[in-house]
Amino acid sequence: MHTKTIKQLSALLHAKQVSATELTQHYLQRAAASDLNAFLHIDPALSLAQAGAADARFAAASAGPLTGIPIAHKDIFVTEGWRSTAGSKMLANYVSPFNATVVERFGQAGMVTLGKLNCDEFAMGSSNQNSAFGAVLNPWDKLAVPGGSSGGSAAAIAARIAPAATATDTGGSIRQPASFCGVTGIKPTYGRVSRFGMIAFASSLDQGGPMAQTAEDCAMLLGEMVGFDERDSTSLTAAQGNVREDFTRDLAEPLAGLRIGVPKEYFGEGLASDVEAAVRAALEQFVKLGATLVDISLPKTSQSIPVYYIIAPAEASSNLSRFDGVRYGHRASEYKDLADMYKKSRAEGFGREVQRRIMVGTYVLCHGYYDAYYLKAQKIRRLIADDFQAALASCDVIMGPVAPTVAWDLGEKTDDPVSAYLADIYTLSTSLAGLPGMSIPCGFGQGDKNGQRPVGLQIIGNYFAEAKLLGIAHQYQQVTDWHTRAPAGV
Ligand code: GLN
Repeated sequence: MHTKTIKQLSALLHAKQVSATELTQHYLQRAAASDLNAFLHIDPALSLAQAGAADARFAAASAGPLTGIPIAHKDIFVTEGWRSTAGSKMLANYVSPFNATVVERFGQAGMVTLGKLNCDEFAMGSSNQNSAFGAVLNPWDKLAVPGGSSGGSAAAIAARIAPAATATDTGGSIRQPASFCGVTGIKPTYGRVSRFGMIAFASSLDQGGPMAQTAEDCAMLLGEMVGFDERDSTSLTAAQGNVREDFTRDLAEPLAGLRIGVPKEYFGEGLASDVEAAVRAALEQFVKLGATLVDISLPKTSQSIPVYYIIAPAEASSNLSRFDGVRYGHRASEYKDLADMYKKSRAEGFGREVQRRIMVGTYVLCHGYYDAYYLKAQKIRRLIADDFQAALASCDVIMGPVAPTVAWDLGEKTDDPVSAYLADIYTLSTSLAGLPGMSIPCGFGQGDKNGQRPVGLQIIGNYFAEAKLLGIAHQYQQVTDWHTRAPAGV
């Protein structure tokens, strides 16, 4: 049952061969039996109540394609009922009085919330080791990280503990964990998916998106996620083109004539040979499907690292100022006065990486450094976006690796945050430009040691090109089986 895609499960539900309640019970059992630490909060009674409501919709013949399908949410989306922690001790006991828009929309479609998924604290990280609630294990190799920050989401899909998951991407956190765990994920154009109720990290970059086994499943999920939301001031409007659309519409589109841009900066020094081999083989597969490869250049790729690691911490330092121990979240139990209460609550509630980013963020924003760092970074950000537009004049989409290596070992890079930042090189610029990007499984590498670790292919498109990306990914998944592979024992 759990190896089936959303599309297949939906057919079973509509044929009444399985009920939403049975399906939910099945996945709840899998979640309870898992040792990956992918889930932070499960509440079977709440999930089963939603499953019962979904079954009532089937009985009343008012079920849609996603009705009764279980979905687990990254613990960055707030949920009524389940705790919402953002992977932080700061919010360890926080229960939101409202649902995030994304959670609300999936609920309206009749999907069943399975629980909340582990992630790096406030989505800061690329290995899920920054969670206050412990690391998530990569189901392919339990010595490896699952990627991050949406490591729980990717691990849950890979281990078939959930058929669908939400995730968020600020600088790669949908694409990189999808790549490390061999699942499919898409980060939409910035502003298409509401950030209302998505606990903020860097507001000008944060974007929600789905993860699942296949591009077709992601298309079904994304259809429920996009659209203007008046409660999010950065939400793109319908007039700007942000309308609900059928993202499955291009799935059958043949790829003959497709021009794939291959950026030379994504294949340079630092790219591991096993990742390169898998990505190049995928490109060859696209050529067999009728596409042509075009050499392109994204000259500011390496600058995306300093630019991102100035802008994202700057925004984070501002967003996280709300956690002061006064209104909600962790409050120190002993303090001398108000200032001491703020200091102790924040020192105790935030983990090391979050504290580091708050310090970097306040530094680059302070008077005297603002022009030298923050303003400069904003200017280069624009140039990075311009580079993509120049490149996309000669190709339809851009393809390359998601990360320079396969998943690294648990414990590696923890004492050296900069080495983890450097590994974001291929994902950050897409986020800085606000473009849509996805990762699809395209093979395996060996890592340094034992065990097979998945490799993802990144596909980047122009603004609003989500349907095109999903169609291209689907065509690839029709002729390859990487996305159907599951870790041993699943
Ligand atoms: N790895 C990046 C960071 O640590 C991206 C995280 C994300 O996309 N949320 O900031």
